[in-house]
Amino acid sequence: MTPLIDSFGRRHDNLRISVTDRCNIRCFYCMPEENVKFEAREHVLSFEEIERFARIAAGLGVRKLRITGGEPLVRKDLAGLIRKLNAIPGIDDLALTTNGVLLAAQAEELYAAGLRRINIHLDTLDRERFRQITRRDDLNRVLDGIEACRRIGYGPIKINAVAVKNLVEPDIVPLARFGRERGIEIRYIEFMPLDAQGLWLRDKVLSADEMLAMLAREIGPLEEVPDRDPRAPATEYRFTDGVGSVGFIASVTRPFCLNCNRLRLTADGHVRYCLFAIEETDVRGLLRGGAPDEEIAAAVRTCVSGKWIGHQIGSQQFVPPPRPMYSIGG
Ligand code: SAM
Ligand code: SF4
Repeated sequence: MTPLIDSFGRRHDNLRISVTDRCNIRCFYCMPEENVKFEAREHVLSFEEIERFARIAAGLGVRKLRITGGEPLVRKDLAGLIRKLNAIPGIDDLALTTNGVLLAAQAEELYAAGLRRINIHLDTLDRERFRQITRRDDLNRVLDGIEACRRIGYGPIKINAVAVKNLVEPDIVPLARFGRERGIEIRYIEFMPLDAQGLWLRDKVLSADEMLAMLAREIGPLEEVPDRDPRAPATEYRFTDGVGSVGFIASVTRPFCLNCNRLRLTADGHVRYCLFAIEETDVRGLLRGGAPDEEIAAAVRTCVSGKWIGHQIGSQQFVPPPRPMYSIGG
C-alpha cells in the first residue's frame, strides 16, 4: 500500500469526519443566527457508510480519526459509531470535537465505547459573552460536560477557544487559569474566514503573539514546548512555573500548511484536502452507487494528489470556501 502523499511530499494520515452539519447552538463565527441551510437528511452519510469510508482510508495509511461537525453529539447513537471506528485495524487514535452542551449526558456512554481524547469548545467563562457568541444560554451545560469528562477520566481533555479581536480579550487569561487549575490545555484558535455571514476581517483576528503577551504579562513566562510533533497544527507553550500549557492554532498569522497531514470527510460525503479548499471529491455517489473499495480509494488518492500548497488567507488571491465551517467540519 502506497501512503497518501501529495505533490509537495506531505503524507496524509489524519482524517476528520463530520457526522452532521446540524448544531444546537449558533456561534456567530460559524453559523448564521437564523435560516441555516442544512443538508437534506438523505444526503448525510449513515454510520455504515462512514465506517466503510474510514476502513478504506485506514487501508491508505490513515491512522488518526477525529469526529466533528456541526455538533456531533446531536447525532443519535454517536457511541455506536465510536465503537465501529475504534474497531478498524490501523486506527490508533480516535478523538472528538464537541461544543460540550450535551456532553454531561453522553460522556459515560462515549467513554464506554472507547473514546478517550476530547476537545471541548469554550470561548469564555462569562455567561453574557457566551450568550453573545453562541446566541444560546448554555455556559453551565458546557462546564458540566467538562466536569463530567474529568470525573470519568478522559485524557487529554483540551478546550478550543476561538479568538476574535475586540471581543474575547477579557477571556484569554481566565481561560488559561481555568486550564491550569484542572490540567486542561487551552487551545486558542485564531478567527478564520469560515463564517457563514462573511463577517471575517483580518483586523478581527486576535493573534497568537498578542495572546502570548497577555498570558506572559498576567500569569508568567512561557516557553515553547520542545520536540513536539511538527505536523500538529498547534504550537504549544508551557508556563515555566511547571503548571500547565496552552496551544495556539495560528492559521492566519503562522500558517502551518507545509506540515499539513489532514483530510476531511463532510457530513454529506465529500472529501476535502483543506478547510479552505474550493474543490472537493464526491464519495457519497461512489459509496451509494455500488463502487468497489478500490474505486473509492482511487478517488481519495486523486483528491490528495491535487492538493494545493496552502491557503492564502490575507493575500489578494484568497477566496473563502463555498461552505462555512459547520458544513465542512472543523
Ligand atoms: N460543534 C463542535 C465544536 O464547536 O467544537 C465541532 C465543530 S466546530 C465547526 C469545530 C471547531 O471549529 C470549534 O471548536 C471552533 O473552535 C472552531 N471554529 C468554528 N468557526 C471558526 C472560525 N470561523 N474560525 C476559527 N475557528 C472556528
Ligand atoms: Fe456549532 Fe461548533 Fe459551529 Fe459553534 S463552532 S455553531 S458549536 S458547529
